[in-house]
Formats: sequence, C-alpha cells, structure tokens
Amino acid sequence: MLNPIYTISRIAEILNADAKLVDEQVIIQYLVIDSRSVLVPENSLFFALSSHRDGHEFIKDAYGKEIRNFVITEEKYVDEYPDCNFIIVDAVLSALQKLAIEHRNHFDLKTIGITGSNGKTIVKEWLYQLLAADYNIVRSPKSYNSQIGVPLSVWQIDADHTLAIFEAGISGVNEMETLAEIIQPQIGVFTNIGEAHAEGFSSKREKLTEKLKLFKDSDLFIYSPDYVSEINFKDLPGKRQFSWSSKQGADLRIIAVEPIEGNCYLRAIYKDKEIECMLPFKDKASIENGMICWATLLALGYSAEQADLRLEKLSPVSMRLELKNGINQCSIIDDSYSADISSLAIALDFLNQQNQHPKKTVILSELFETGQDDLDLYTEIADLLGQKKVNRLIGIGSHIARYAQLFKFEAQFFEDTNAFIEAFPGLQFSHETILVKGARRFEFGRISKLLTQKIHDTVLEIDLNAMVGNLQFYRSKIKPGVKIMAMVKAFSYGSGSFEIANLLQFHKVDYLAVAYADEGIALRKAGITLPIMVMSPEESAFEAIIKHNLEPEIYSLEILNGFVNALSDYDFSYPVHIKIDSGMHRLGFDGNEIDKLSTFLKDSQRVKVQSIFSHLVASGEAEHDGFTQHQIEKFKLMASQLIDVLGYKPILHIANTSGISRWPEGQMDMVRLGIGLYGFDSALLNNRGLQTTMVLKTTVTQVKTLDAGETVGYSRNGVMPKGGKIATVKIGYADGYNRAFGNGVGKMLINGHLVPTIGSICMDMTMLDITGIDVKPGDEAIVFNQEHNIMELAKEINTIPYEILTNISQRVKRVYFYE
Ligand SMILES: *Cc1c(COP(=O)(O)O)cnc(C)c1O
Repeated sequence: MLNPIYTISRIAEILNADAKLVDEQVIIQYLVIDSRSVLVPENSLFFALSSHRDGHEFIKDAYGKEIRNFVITEEKYVDEYPDCNFIIVDAVLSALQKLAIEHRNHFDLKTIGITGSNGKTIVKEWLYQLLAADYNIVRSPKSYNSQIGVPLSVWQIDADHTLAIFEAGISGVNEMETLAEIIQPQIGVFTNIGEAHAEGFSSKREKLTEKLKLFKDSDLFIYSPDYVSEINFKDLPGKRQFSWSSKQGADLRIIAVEPIEGNCYLRAIYKDKEIECMLPFKDKASIENGMICWATLLALGYSAEQADLRLEKLSPVSMRLELKNGINQCSIIDDSYSADISSLAIALDFLNQQNQHPKKTVILSELFETGQDDLDLYTEIADLLGQKKVNRLIGIGSHIARYAQLFKFEAQFFEDTNAFIEAFPGLQFSHETILVKGARRFEFGRISKLLTQKIHDTVLEIDLNAMVGNLQFYRSKIKPGVKIMAMVKAFSYGSGSFEIANLLQFHKVDYLAVAYADEGIALRKAGITLPIMVMSPEESAFEAIIKHNLEPEIYSLEILNGFVNALSDYDFSYPVHIKIDSGMHRLGFDGNEIDKLSTFLKDSQRVKVQSIFSHLVASGEAEHDGFTQHQIEKFKLMASQLIDVLGYKPILHIANTSGISRWPEGQMDMVRLGIGLYGFDSALLNNRGLQTTMVLKTTVTQVKTLDAGETVGYSRNGVMPKGGKIATVKIGYADGYNRAFGNGVGKMLINGHLVPTIGSICMDMTMLDITGIDVKPGDEAIVFNQEHNIMELAKEINTIPYEILTNISQRVKRVYFYE
C-alpha cells in the first residue's frame, strides 16, 4: 500500500468545501492547530480551531511563521491574505475530523482502540512496549485522546505501519461516535469506569454506554465485568469478548495478587489452568493497568509464558517533562523516558519557551522511528533542531554519530551513555538550558542525575499544565478584549519565578505584576519581555526600575515627584500605574488628592499613565457585596475625574481573582489574576473548575516504636500513653511547615493514610504518629496534594491558602512538570 498524497485541492475536495486557492498543487503533510508549533510551514495546513479564543485570531501569527494554507469559516481573511490558500468550511473541527476519517479509510490497518476513565495513556504506552517486537506501531502521541487529539494521531498513520494503538477520551454525550469513525478499532480495550467526572453525563450508565460506542464495530472487546454491571451481557460490543477480573468469574480470573519487594506477583486461572506473571510495580493503579495488558496479550493469542516474559520487562511511563535547576546555573529539562519525533517536537517547544538562558543544548540519544530510514530521520531531526534554534547537540549512539555532518551547529557525539559519562568531567555546561532526551534503553536518567542539583528529599512539584488550565478557566470568564495581568509577586505565590513567567508569556497574558523591583529585575534577567508592574517601588530602586523597563505603581504625590525627578535624564513619557484607594486603606490616592494629581500629571510630560487601578477588599465575600459595589463606583468616579483632566484613557482595572468570578461589571479593561492561577478561588465552591497546581512531598527518615508513656520531641509535648509507632519526616518550620501544625493539628498522607503530627514541629523535621500503619524509611509523606489540600491545611491552623503557599521556603526545591 502506498501513502496517499494530499494536495490542497484534493483536501478541499475531501472536505467538499469552497476553496480560494492560489497554488492548487501544494502538498500538505502537517496539520497545525497551534500557530506556536510549526515544523515545515510550506507543507502545513492551519486549522483555525476555536477554543477559549477564536482560532481565526491566530491566522496572523501563523502567517508570520510562513504558513500559507488555512482552513477557516470566515471568508473575510481571503482578501486580507491574497497569497494564501484558503478552504472555507462550516465547522473547522468537523473538517479536521473528516480529513482524518478519509486518511484512516485509506489504510487497512490492525487497530487497537482504548477508552475508559483512567489508565488509557499508560495502557497504550505499555501495549506499545509489549507489542513493539512484533509490529511497526503508530500510536497517539502522549495523551492525544480528545476530539482534536484523535484526528491528529490518526493523521500520523503511514504505509509502513502494521499496528495502530489509539486512545479516546470524551467529556459528554454524542462525542464518541465521531471518534469511533476516526479510529475504527478492530480490537477494543476498556480500562475502567470511575464515579468522578460524571458532569457531562446524566448517569453512570449513560457514561458507560457512550464510552462503549467506540467499540461498536470491533471484532474483539477486552474488559472487566466489574465495570460493566449496568449493561446486559448481550449488549456488550464486539463479535468476541475477553474478560478479566479479580473479583468474579472471567476468562482471565485473577486469584492472587502478592506484592514481593518492588514487584507484584499475579496468579490466575486461564483456560482451566493456573498461570502467573510478574509485574515490576506495586501500586494499585499499575497493577490494574498490568492486568488489562495481561488480558490483552492473552486475548491476542500470546501464550501465558510469552505474556509473562514480556510483562516483567515493562517500564514506568512518565509522560511529563520535568524542569529543574541544574549544576552551574543551568536549567535541566528531563525527558529521559522516550525518544520519537513527535515527543521530540513537543520537548523542543518547551525548551523554546525557556528564556532564562540564551544558550540551548540538547542531549539526544539515537531514535528508533519504525519504518523510516536513518538518513531521512536524521535529516528531519537536524531540520527540527535548527528550526527550534538549538545551539548545541550532544548525540549519543553510533547511528546518530554517522550523520554528524547534517547538524550545522556545535555538535559532539558519543558511542554510548557510558562514554558520555566518562567524558563528563571535561565537558562544559554552564548558564544554558539543557534538554535531556533519550530512548529508554540509553538510561538517560543517569545523565540527568549528573546535571541536576542534588534534590534533598522535600520537593514542591508544580504542574504547569494545571496552571495553564486555570488561566484558560479565567479567560473563559472574562469578556472579549479584557486584558489579564498575572500576579507573580512573592515568587509567584511560592511556585517560582521565571519558570512561571515563561509559561505566562508563552500563553500571552498581557501584563505581569510583582511586589518589589528585585522580583521584576530577576524576571528581566531571565529574558521575560512582558510589561511588568512593580507595586512597591522604593525610591532607592527607581534607577534600576527605569534601567530594566519596569513600570512603577504610583500611590502618592511624593512617590510621583521622586520618580519624575529620577526620570530627568529621559526625554520620553515613562509608563506608570496610578493606584487609587477605594476602601482598602493600604496604598493609593484619596479622593481629595485627585485634583492635585491630575494637574501634576497633565503638566508633566515625563510620565504617561498606563493604567489606573484600585483593589477590592472582599470581592469573594457575599456579606460585603454592598461595600464591593461601593468600591467599584468610587473607583469609576475617581478614575473618570482623572481621565477628564488627562485627556486620554488609560487601562482601568480593579478585579482580583474572586472579583473576576463574582463581579462581571468589575472586569473593566483588565483583571488582575492572582491566587486563581494557582488553583484557589474563595468565590468558587471547593474551587470547582480549577486544577491543583502544587504538591508538597517529603520523605520518612526513620521509624521508631515507643513504649507506653514515652514522649516525642522538644519539651516532651508529644505524649503516647499507650505507646505506638512514629515516623520522622524531613520537613520543619524552616521549610515553611508552620509550628502551629504541631501536636496533632496538622496531618500528612503516608501510603494512603492521613496521619497526625505528634509533638512540636522542629526546625528541619516533624514527627508523625503512624501507629498501626506500615511505614518504612524512604517512604513518601505528602504534606499537601489534591486530596489532602491546602484549603484543609489552612483551616487546620486558621489561616488562608495564600499564607501556606508563600511560606514554603526557598530551601524546598521546586520541580516543574509539563506534558
Ligand atoms: C495580590 C494582589 C492581587 C491578586 O489577588 P488574588 O486574590 O490573589 O487574585 C490583585 N491586586 C493586587 C493589588 C494585589 O496585591
């Protein structure tokens, strides 16, 4: 079978759509939905998909990246860009899906489809590991399982593939039918169904029925009866079924699950015989995912012995990139799990989002791209690295070294990982961002360890995708055209400095705000170019503020005078932000100062009022709504008095996070998003709609058994009348774990149990009462996560999430995850 060739006119025909083509013969190879990640613009087709923002807004960006082929709904762009090809459709998403269906129909390819509430991505990756010896496999990149991700995954199929593994996820009814048509799985794997996330469905049964539509034309359906009890057996999909269960009768009836050290030993009855396998994992989720893979191998006809041999070699799947601090001021992006072109492109995009060092290095193992010859593969990689402005490559493996001449920038090659590690002491790494990306068998974990600062065992993990999710949540709440100022003061509420600012800049917020000049200067030095407001500009920092192009908040005539004097060497209008006191009574101009202020501003050409703003004191509290209303009105009045004299209209803003949620009329020209970005909003019941962005973890150092009457810690505060067991963990008040958490007030999660503190919190350590629970040194103790969340911690010691977050000291290492 040959690969289909898609000219732009052929695509217009497939879509049965109107087209305005200037070059009908252009060949399309890449479908692009994000103007920020473009590989080969001349062969790319941009789909103006709308999500939180209208995709048409990004046509300009895409054009700037040299894309000339577009699928749109709004014809007006045709005249605006006369040198481009346009296909005009009724719905852009449907067009993308239709094209994917056409592509899928072209191939008669064995396909496994996976759906279910949890485990889809892991099961997909594990089946890939288990079956790669026998097939050339195409699979969804990462967790591309949505209405958009599935068509993009299917588009990757080419003639050399012999097996496809795609996952599908849905959030409501009437979504699965399209995905089923795009994937067309002959083999269906249903992982499980959860109670949670039922929002888009009226009942669990409805959710189940909808999900199973993926398999309506499948030949083989692999499932557990434990998850489909709402459905009659005769209504299950598939011409043939294969079931697994550890609770009831099934084709694969699991009768024993025995953890042995880090592994898990499974026994089962299959075809009336007892069989077994070993999984190199011990956590509950991995064991279930392992059972699903076991069932799938058997259902596909592998023998019990073959299945066992393959399963014991499974390796963990981490779909996340980790950003951490490295040696010699480097930033390390650790992606030592996989190496293929599509995940390399994603990792390079993330590398490109980092502005903190001008130099970008990639340490890359050779890739194993099924069905592509080496010259093509490394030519493509060399182009990709070039486009992503990589300055230096360290290639590891004999294949990649053979193509050294393709890489037209600083490049060095090593035969294998050991050779690199031997040479490491003589290699220079300093002030650069380094992407470490290697196929599993190259064991690049060893390389990232050499490059990373030693992480002591208390870590704050920050989920950058969750933060983007929260940003989009607020974007969906503000009116079109309203700008966003993201509050990154106090180390971005404890979460980080340039790491967060890079993300916000990439996702195009309009402004950043910091408390002090130092914080803004640090961001400028890390390459952040967004405008930055400084809320407490000290007189001594004026010069630095001007030098680094930061914009001060002006809250009094004295500070205005001082700042204007500092500008004496400059002959342009410097942007400043006027703060009005509408009721907070912290900083800002009062009503009786507006006359003087406006006269001063009008007479002085040295400053330009970029914005006028005020701050709400209780936007999240219904009992103070009258006061909030009064603040908004007072602010509007004072601002308009100022504007009358100024003769131009600066940006007006007053709403903080809960102001955005509760006061639509307070959105004005801009909103100031703070705590909501980090996952909290007192205006939302249980922060509904927001994602958890931070997890704080520490480690058990020692476990002790105490006799009745012994005490724990300083001043003998911890008493154990009946004796018991305690664990010491590596976090104390110097890390930001408040002393008020002592003596049972605070709790941590260990191995799934919530356990109380005992005795007083020490400077660097805390003791926990773990009586009756199995805990060993080295086990993880979770201080807060999604389950045991910061809201609860704040309640325990009678404070607010803001304080818990900003108290986490700089000694605690931050690690950033990005998918
Ligand atoms: C911190 C701060 C905000 C953000 O408040 P959140 O409640 O965190 O959204 C907004 N405006 C000003 C002036 C602030 O100091």
